[in-house]
Amino acid sequence: MHRAVIVLSVLTLAACGPALLPAQTKAPGALDIYVIDVEGGNATLFVTPNHESLLMDTGNAGAAAARDAGRIMEAVQDAGLQQIDHLIITHWHGDHFGGLAELASKIPIREFIDHGPNAQPGELADNFLQNTYPQLIAKSKHTVAKAGDKIAMAGLDVRVVTSDGETIKTPLPGAGKPNPYCANFKPADANAEDPRSVGIYVAYGKFRTIHLGDVTKNKEFALMCPNNKIGVVDVLLGLHHGQASSNSQVLVHALHPRVAIMNNGTRKGGEPEVMKTVFSSPGLEDLWELHFSVLSGQEYTVPGMFIANIVDDQQSAMPIAPVPAPPPGPGAPPPPAHNGKAYWIKLTAEKDGTFTVTNQRNRFSKTYGAGL
Ligand SMILES: [Zn+2]
Ligand SMILES: [Zn+2]
Repeated sequence: MHRAVIVLSVLTLAACGPALLPAQTKAPGALDIYVIDVEGGNATLFVTPNHESLLMDTGNAGAAAARDAGRIMEAVQDAGLQQIDHLIITHWHGDHFGGLAELASKIPIREFIDHGPNAQPGELADNFLQNTYPQLIAKSKHTVAKAGDKIAMAGLDVRVVTSDGETIKTPLPGAGKPNPYCANFKPADANAEDPRSVGIYVAYGKFRTIHLGDVTKNKEFALMCPNNKIGVVDVLLGLHHGQASSNSQVLVHALHPRVAIMNNGTRKGGEPEVMKTVFSSPGLEDLWELHFSVLSGQEYTVPGMFIANIVDDQQSAMPIAPVPAPPPGPGAPPPPAHNGKAYWIKLTAEKDGTFTVTNQRNRFSKTYGAGL
């Protein structure tokens, strides 16, 4: 696999000359993580030094599927991948599985991982699971993830820590201390599917990160209380788009992340309550966001250098006050559109725990030294 990629690169070089080198930017000996903009959905791609890949979720459905699958393919090509080795669909919401059929028509997917049957009846998911998914998985491996499972990837420690509403019962090695934030916990849930998300913990040498899909506060409590079964991480990924039904202190503060990368949309997530929790998290150095969110306003947003995407029709100034989200439902006006060129946030981690985060839009990049 690795050799094939090198040979291809040499051929391309010979044919085109150095001016047209392929756009691969993979650093040798590093774990790359692409946080891809799918407009308040999720698509996060992990690529090991040997070009083994794990994709979490595939963006949105319907008219957005081609756009989001295309954005994922840009990252796939940047990483020099010929296939997706492992695909996790965290849960059966359209912003997570929506682009799957479109993506599967563009690149082979070798293993499909999910939490099991849909728990929240709805036309989109039920139709997909009945008519499309069985065909997609027919020629590949299909795994129903259980909390405690490992996903085999050479050089990487990938553990399923939440799935189908269950959380790991045994702490990860070195974890399991009492969590001081549990006493002030306020329960919150959202729907039947978010809490069933497949969540993973990933370690590469000394570097540690976690992505819990859209797991809600009640499951965060189950995972983190009374004892913290995860320990600390360098980077917290996803944050359920920055929505307030997730992101309790028992999770965010106890994980003690140095960096958080939020998969929010233009009007989804980046909510004031979540921003306060993240900004007050002990040890946090930076929050990076996939988007400016009108729900943050200037009051809560991070500087633009940490934000990967803007909107198609950019306002001359961001209002100071956060804009409250309209009531959900068919009467809600559409969020500010972003269908144009999209940018990812890319993280490159070394085995010694050093990692670099880069904003593809403005090329701003910051390196974080190895943690404790
Ligand atoms: Zn966008
Ligand atoms: Zn979601």
